[in-house]
Amino acid sequence: MAVAEIVTIGTELLLGEIQDTNSRFIARTLRDIGIDLYRLTTVGDNVQRITFTLTEALMRADVVITTGGLGPTVDDPTRQAVADVFNVPLVYREDLWEQILDRFRFYQRTPTENNRRQAYIPANAIAIPNKVGTAPAFAIELGVKTIISLPGVPREMEYLMNNYVVAYLKERYHLKDEIILPWVIHTVSKGESSIDEIIGEMEKLSNPTVGLLAHPGQTDVRVTAKASSAEEAQKMMAPVLAEIRQKLEEFIYGENEDTIQSVVASKLLDHNKRITVIETGTDAIVFKALAEHLDEKNLTGELLDVNINHETFKTLMKEYQVIKQADLVLGLMLSSQEEEQELYIALLENESITEYKRLYGGPAGDARRWALNVSLDLVRKKLL
Ligand code: ATP
Repeated sequence: MAVAEIVTIGTELLLGEIQDTNSRFIARTLRDIGIDLYRLTTVGDNVQRITFTLTEALMRADVVITTGGLGPTVDDPTRQAVADVFNVPLVYREDLWEQILDRFRFYQRTPTENNRRQAYIPANAIAIPNKVGTAPAFAIELGVKTIISLPGVPREMEYLMNNYVVAYLKERYHLKDEIILPWVIHTVSKGESSIDEIIGEMEKLSNPTVGLLAHPGQTDVRVTAKASSAEEAQKMMAPVLAEIRQKLEEFIYGENEDTIQSVVASKLLDHNKRITVIETGTDAIVFKALAEHLDEKNLTGELLDVNINHETFKTLMKEYQVIKQADLVLGLMLSSQEEEQELYIALLENESITEYKRLYGGPAGDARRWALNVSLDLVRKKLL
């Protein structure tokens, strides 16, 4: 199995002036053809540092893909660095110079003497024709190892990846048409460490892999299988998904595209129930989330900007139950206590009201999202 690393080159990236979107594109492309990506590195426009970074990356990986630093100016150092890694000189390639001239003719511009630099690539490198820009790209091979140097301009890099590099890598590394299929199971109201305690052993699997991703009030379990077809990947992950579903059953609200609000909304519709949401301190996050899926026939809401005591709040909920003709009333009050956020939730159905208190110690900015997950989870359980 071929292993890759990406090295993005450009001082602008290190200064935070531009964002590295090239890595993301290349990473996804490699994922789709079944190449494992182990590391991303960014390095400035400095020949020694690039040479060092590439030498190191090449010790670990089979394929190193670079972007940037191929322009015609003196501080475009990638060509020289790659030549230094393989200890070969840069050689002038008449065919590349012709190609550069063609591009300039196309744009009706005159090349400068500097542009000639771009016709130099490391000796023995394979030139990758660049039809969308002037900087020629190249690949250089040594045994099973390969460095591929692409331009920094995203449009040019993407074109070359799609039109040359993918086919080149597939042939050179005898890649079968493998795909990587992800599947996400969403759990709610349980932290990452509690989920980890239950399915920790499964996180050691290698294909499919199982990993956790924590959000406020929600932990996603991500299962990823690599196989030659989506069908086969699904077959491989089926027993793993079944085991996770069984172990985490009570905490799972949905899978893949499901959100807690989409799941709760469809349960309300199934049960033909109207809900009213009364909130304080949440900027109406719960109402807004449900409104993505429900209209006023099934959903009404109030945002109160005063803090009232729980007894008054419950009386208010009962009044709203009548006024809005609601089957269910969800009330929540989110308030900050020193380091923690306190969430009071009351759920009113018919005559019966149930109250809950939850504390959140995470970042204050995440508290609303957490409150949304925790409170809608209670509604979800009520509708099971
Ligand atoms: P060219 O000769 O076509 O300019 P180059 O290989 O010399 O290409 P750079 O000069 O390093 O590329 O970068 C050109 C431009 O491409 C940068 O100014 C930036 O806007 C963009 N760019 C470079 N690297 C990245 C990256 N990793 N992610 C997104 N954009 C990038």
